[in-house]
Amino acid sequence: MKTVGEWLQSAEGSLQPGKGERSTPPKRPQDPNQARQHHRRRRNGPFRKFHGQQQSVPPKPGVQPQQIAAQGPRQGGLRIYPLGGFEQVGRNCTCIEVDGDIYMIDLGLEFPDEDMLGIDYLVPDISALKGKEHRIKAILFTHGHLDHIGAIQHLLPSLHFPQCYGTKLTMAMARKRLDEEGLTSKAKLTSVAYGEKIRIGKVEVEFLRVTHSIPDSAAIALHTPYGTLVHTGDFKFDLTPMNEPPADFQRFAELGKQGVLAIIADSTNAAKPGTSLSESQISDTIYDLIRDAEGRVIISTFSSLLNRTQQIVDHAKHFNRKVFISGRSMLTNVELAQNLGYLKAPRGLIRKVSPGMSKLPDKEVLIITTGSQGEENAGLARIGLGTHRQIIVKKGDTVILSSNPIIGNERAVMKVVNNLHLKGATVKTNAELALHTTGHGHRNDLLMMHRLVHAKHVIPEHGEPFMREAHAEIARDIGYQENQIHMLVNGEILEFDPQGNARKSKQKFTVNDVIIDGRGSASEGQRASALSGIPM
Ligand SMILES: [Zn+2]
Ligand SMILES: [Zn+2]
Repeated sequence: MKTVGEWLQSAEGSLQPGKGERSTPPKRPQDPNQARQHHRRRRNGPFRKFHGQQQSVPPKPGVQPQQIAAQGPRQGGLRIYPLGGFEQVGRNCTCIEVDGDIYMIDLGLEFPDEDMLGIDYLVPDISALKGKEHRIKAILFTHGHLDHIGAIQHLLPSLHFPQCYGTKLTMAMARKRLDEEGLTSKAKLTSVAYGEKIRIGKVEVEFLRVTHSIPDSAAIALHTPYGTLVHTGDFKFDLTPMNEPPADFQRFAELGKQGVLAIIADSTNAAKPGTSLSESQISDTIYDLIRDAEGRVIISTFSSLLNRTQQIVDHAKHFNRKVFISGRSMLTNVELAQNLGYLKAPRGLIRKVSPGMSKLPDKEVLIITTGSQGEENAGLARIGLGTHRQIIVKKGDTVILSSNPIIGNERAVMKVVNNLHLKGATVKTNAELALHTTGHGHRNDLLMMHRLVHAKHVIPEHGEPFMREAHAEIARDIGYQENQIHMLVNGEILEFDPQGNARKSKQKFTVNDVIIDGRGSASEGQRASALSGIPM
């Protein structure tokens, strides 16, 4: 891994890709204890800003992959190649080529490692698509998390604004990203309903309902002339979800019965045993804590966990508390969700944190805030430090962390918890009570998906190498042979023959680390809110 100095130095003179240009090697630590540190970021040193420009992180010498020119003759048949998300959690982007027509799934961002100081985030390297923009039939978005939509405003222009499809909330969140760059009027965004089938070129596309940690999450089925492909998106099978129906088990099973050629499936929690906890259990715990609280209740959670926010709002209403929202991303998401009908509350129940709050008796106040990752400038940390402008924590307050620290953030979160204790608050965390659950299926959720869809080929995606390897192991356990499990890395190409056999091409696309930097005014607080966009 590069140090800042190395990175800065090489960034100066490396814009000409030269000899030894690499395709991205696994850059994440293999040790699960170190994994996902890249979600944590700090800005504490000098760096070179690129002011919103995309820059390729320069090649490391020594690796000589067999590369292919980005431009080339149109190839028939079916090919799948990821441009991001297959060596990391983040930067998701997978391309499916059907007789030369290109269907992209997701355009996400990735937060950099701690040593990549000054970088806002990384985005998929789309140089493989240069000169082929006219062949891009669609970009299909699985859900509204930033690791799936976060690069849209940077990459859509280079892709010549192809048609984009996604469910209603996903498209609304994508539009927000585009608004920031004034690109919305140029983009072609289409909202689709679950179960609706859309013909795009030779492919019929279908969005299937799944449960995850943001409403409107979808798996995508692509019915191609070569067979059906299923991309799970991020998912878990929650049998008792809150505010939304469970996943469309019936349709997954139907597809399985009809025959699925390949499944591209979420690997994030493949190494975790058992089944993921249901959102309803979290709701019950929060209910009990609000019921028993003597004074104010302050809850921090991920801003995109809108179904949990709905639970909190419902419980607050039940116990006659007003809900006050604190934190930029929380305010933005609550407003968006209320406007689109994903968050329902009687008029006047939800308010912005304001000085007027103190006029209410403590028993009637509930605050929802950002900062569940201990981010220094986000709501909860400032409350703990006593630097929050409107919320001063005091004895009698109950503070609930409805979240898990992402690996690497534990110390920062602990610091916040300690500060809150010192100020006299009662603090409840997921360590002692069921206060958070993941949006990504554990081993049993993945087994269920594979049993239902029963695809001929399994392509583990969305994860670091150890996560995807655990996913491959699950496939082996239920009888998949090595020639049916395909461990691609970014840029590698999986080719299908007319008989439905698949093998990795000897050629691959060059995929570099492309950084976005110099959003200039982006403050740490904004970063923190962005961070809250990717709950694990
Ligand atoms: Zn997600
Ligand atoms: Zn994701």
